[in-house]
Amino acid sequence: MYDVLIIGIGCAGYTAAVYAARYKLNTFIVGAEEGGLGNTAAEVGNWPGIQEITGPDLMQNFKNHALSFTEQVTHKNARVLKVEKGQGVFHLTLDDGSTVEGKTLIFAMGSTKRHLGVKGEKEFSGKGVTYCATCDAFFYRNKVVAVIGGGDSAVEGAAIAAQVASKVYLVHRRDAFRAEPYWVDQVKAKSNVSFVLETNIVEILGEQKVTGIKIDKPFEGSDMLKVDGVFIEIGGDPATSLAKEIGCTVDAKGFLEVDNAMRTVVPGVFGAGDITSASNHFAQFTTAAGEASVAANSAFNYLQSGH
Ligand code: NAP
Repeated sequence: MYDVLIIGIGCAGYTAAVYAARYKLNTFIVGAEEGGLGNTAAEVGNWPGIQEITGPDLMQNFKNHALSFTEQVTHKNARVLKVEKGQGVFHLTLDDGSTVEGKTLIFAMGSTKRHLGVKGEKEFSGKGVTYCATCDAFFYRNKVVAVIGGGDSAVEGAAIAAQVASKVYLVHRRDAFRAEPYWVDQVKAKSNVSFVLETNIVEILGEQKVTGIKIDKPFEGSDMLKVDGVFIEIGGDPATSLAKEIGCTVDAKGFLEVDNAMRTVVPGVFGAGDITSASNHFAQFTTAAGEASVAANSAFNYLQSGH
């Protein structure tokens, strides 16, 4: 029986593991998406103390740090299929058929990428339609791509794609970006990026693979843009289905509800990172790490108080 079960192997999960290990808690950390959303950041310039690092390198550092506590931390790459709550114990069923038990539980699964829901999206998924511009841009050297969205993921993705693609259309439904001004400046400095603003995609066109997108407003005289790839970067939905199964509540936007000690409404269950309603929904490495350290501290306090 572990003291702490952590579901999620991104920034929040690994931070919670580091803190739990230093509290000498017997910790089990499990997840399927190594590095989480953090792995998709081509360039991280806002992790204090390191001026610039790639997302995968930063996440590898987090993992190495957590796993350096060899006596306290057990790590497994697996998908959690089921979470059950017993009397003072939580049970996880993993997709390799194994089960694990722990006295406390930290949900740190982040979010799953949102889909547009337009015609052609499903059909051409993996055939030109992808959900990570920074991961896939390098397959589009000297090609034309469209990036959809106006947040950090889309604007950073467009700036990265512009380094290799011959042309990038940044298609956003409003005329203003919610992305950090740093990334907006980066993308504006690229001569091969066209801003297609106040515009929605109606359909993704193609035959064997993507050939274009149909938009709801003409751009340079046409409602069709010829592209080889479409990177959909319109945010994510918190991965709360397992948490809801054991009685955790979510807010109006679907995020896991936690108090300022990162406690959910279920005793012994905590949340951290992009999955939660905390930090004003400001999903950053720094906020995820901060929330995770509080969650681990709360798990420690919970166990100390005799649970
Ligand atoms: P986000 O901040 O939620 O932005 C999603 C964007 O997609 C918004 O511009 C939104 O438009 C648009 N959108 C949403 N649904 C849409 C739809 N159905 N059709 C068309 N457009 C749609 O998501 P994100 O950019 O993935 O970022 C998620 C979190 O990770 C954020 O907190 C972000 O700061 C963080 N992040 C940080 C970095 C970094 O610091 N380097 C990099 C990546 C992500 P509206 O603007 O109109 O709402």
